[in-house]
Amino acid sequence: MFVNALIGLVILGIVFFPLERLWPAQRGQRFFGRPGFVTDLIHFVVTGALTTVGLVLAAIPFVVAIRAFTPAQIRDVVTAQPEVLQLVEALMIVELVGYWSHRLMHSVPSLWKLHRVHHSSERMDWLAAAHLHPFDASFGRLLAVIPLAYLGFSRETFGGAIAFLTLHGIFQHANFRVRLGPLRKVVSSPQFHHWHHTNDPHARDRNFAGLFPWIDGLFGTLYLPDREWPQTYGIDDAMPLNYLRQLASPFRPPPAASPTPEPAVPSGTCVEASSTI
Ligand SMILES: [Zn+2]
Ligand SMILES: [Zn+2]
Repeated sequence: MFVNALIGLVILGIVFFPLERLWPAQRGQRFFGRPGFVTDLIHFVVTGALTTVGLVLAAIPFVVAIRAFTPAQIRDVVTAQPEVLQLVEALMIVELVGYWSHRLMHSVPSLWKLHRVHHSSERMDWLAAAHLHPFDASFGRLLAVIPLAYLGFSRETFGGAIAFLTLHGIFQHANFRVRLGPLRKVVSSPQFHHWHHTNDPHARDRNFAGLFPWIDGLFGTLYLPDREWPQTYGIDDAMPLNYLRQLASPFRPPPAASPTPEPAVPSGTCVEASSTI
């Protein structure tokens, strides 16, 4: 599993590194050696593996229990559809559940303690997608299992939807200035999700959707200016760079508020401080 994660890391690096160098959203931003770089590598490999194992173990009893209540007629109708249609439906369900579970993460204090780990990144790039607490990563997916299992979607369909959304999630964190034209409010882009990560007070708590910005439009939380990108990212209080301290942070007393966040584009040298296991 760790070997697969390392292979994935290399492949994603080969794809995204040139894109971020050629068309950066935030010019002058370093990738190698940026603050939290080593910690995010550990998140990618270790948190990713922990989440996958934990999700599978937690989902098995969920799925078995929920499927016992599924009427056979519903399951037959769902599974008789073409696989592509099932995948699209599963994506829609995961997206809708994901939107509301993400919104809960921002509004319920105990859930925000988990989710603020993800929002503590002050530089956005493809690797920052992995910067999240394993309980945070599992929460929305476990909730999505409930309707999918009840309706009779197969494990393969659920896995396909999650794999697609995970890859898209990496894309939308990238420091990559891509314009989708008229599709920008239909399919999410890095600009859409970067605004979700801004620390700018006028744009906070917006853009909760993973793939479809129009879901935010539907529920009144869309913020997507035409060409503008955020100037700052992060949270108001401090988050340690150390990997294990980040995992422990939701269960510790709240940290003191930190001063104004750093600008998105580094102005000088950055030092990676104690960011190892
Ligand atoms: Zn969020
Ligand atoms: Zn994010």
